[in-house]
Amino acid sequence: MIIMIKKMLIANRGEIAVRIIRACKEMGIKTVAIYSTADASSLHVELADQSVCVGGPKAKDSYLNMSNILSAACLTGCDAIHPGFGFLSENSKFARLVNKCGLVFVGPNPEAIDMMGNKNEARKIMIENKVPVVPGSKGIIESVADGLKVSEEIGYPVLIKASNGGGGKGMRVATSKDNFEDAFYTAKAEAKANFGDDEVYIEKLLNNPKHIEVQILADKFGNVLHLFERDCSLQRRKQKLIEEAPCFSLRNDIKEQMYADAIKACKAVKYDSVGTIEFLYDTTTKKYYFIEMNTRIQVEHPITEMITNVDIVKNQIRVAEGLELSLKQEDIKQNGYAMECRINAEDIDKDFAPSPGKITFLHTPGGKGIRIDGSVYTNYEIPPFYDSMILKLIVFAPTRLECIRKMRAALEELIIEGVKTNIEYHYMILHNPVFISGNYNIGFIENFAKEIQDRDKYISK
Ligand code: ADP
Repeated sequence: MIIMIKKMLIANRGEIAVRIIRACKEMGIKTVAIYSTADASSLHVELADQSVCVGGPKAKDSYLNMSNILSAACLTGCDAIHPGFGFLSENSKFARLVNKCGLVFVGPNPEAIDMMGNKNEARKIMIENKVPVVPGSKGIIESVADGLKVSEEIGYPVLIKASNGGGGKGMRVATSKDNFEDAFYTAKAEAKANFGDDEVYIEKLLNNPKHIEVQILADKFGNVLHLFERDCSLQRRKQKLIEEAPCFSLRNDIKEQMYADAIKACKAVKYDSVGTIEFLYDTTTKKYYFIEMNTRIQVEHPITEMITNVDIVKNQIRVAEGLELSLKQEDIKQNGYAMECRINAEDIDKDFAPSPGKITFLHTPGGKGIRIDGSVYTNYEIPPFYDSMILKLIVFAPTRLECIRKMRAALEELIIEGVKTNIEYHYMILHNPVFISGNYNIGFIENFAKEIQDRDKYISK
């Protein structure tokens, strides 16, 4: 059944809400923004055709408040809800409720969310479908004795991971049987506190692999396409900081296998939307392993849009309407290089503590190949309640080196005053020889941290 969406509620805030509103405007779809009392003067509220306040500043009272969001959608006559990322985007209960209200959920079917949302379940499905997973436990680890047995078999160090974890939370390393118990209970406690349940499983801790992910585009007719890969190895505390596409240092034959496995993984759960299959790649053994699927649009989707010229959000909306993908795999070509720096309002000298407050001056770069996905403006007051990412600086150039040069120039031109940001931190990474080589891995920042601590020596007094 095809439902042409005429009015969309965007159940999110910040830059992704703005990104979705822009796509809707281009498609002739009216938009309804939701906001918390702390977000009344946000850009997404300003840009939408209508807006509804759905609750107080805390996410649980507003952006996670399902009944208020659904009421807002029904009362404003919306026929669809786009969840963006974070908040309710991977919540199958919400997706089902949206459908029950007779609205379109712009995302995959709830069964696919269920199958891929629980990382331990997803692992099992991958094993059944012969997609490689990181060596680890067959299922949930119920006791310390269980965990010790599995860890002995696969060999230390091991990583204890929350089945419902996300954002790098609920993960603990055990380096030997002596610290296993501690790590096990800490991971469980963190999982319980953040995700409401304390199920954990075990994976072998890979030695500084690369994080490579494949962007997927699928529809309700069983068509599943890939939009190539992104290298998201540049992470701080398991959170991505800089992403690039394509990956510079991976052999083409390995990439092709990854695309095929990513498509196989999606077909296994009858996936029918935009999504991402995440892999870790061991540069020594040249093997890759599935770690999880994100069943939603991702922060770093613009770099894929830059190299493929495909608008991922518009396609996501079209397939949610029930339309068949108009693209075929052979139509999707990649060209050039793209990078994204996540600009956060945080104080790098205070252990990256969030730095909310008023932006007293903002100047953004521009020109060929520069894209800014943001939600801030001069005199905007960043509230302290949400994620500290305020802007994404995305650049595109024919070659990787030109891309790096363009990003450096763009970072030089970007001025944000009034709050602390990580612009300078990005600038220094963009000059690091290991980063420039493309051969960096998820351990990069640990070494770089030492370099940045010494940065005073580069500054003349
Ligand atoms: P989350 O859902 O919390 O983001 P992921 O499973 O996607 O968790 O992992 C996040 C990051 O943690 C990865 O990009 C990688 O840096 C690290 N990581 C996860 N699993 C392993 C592993 N088995 N070995 C080494 N690092 C890992």
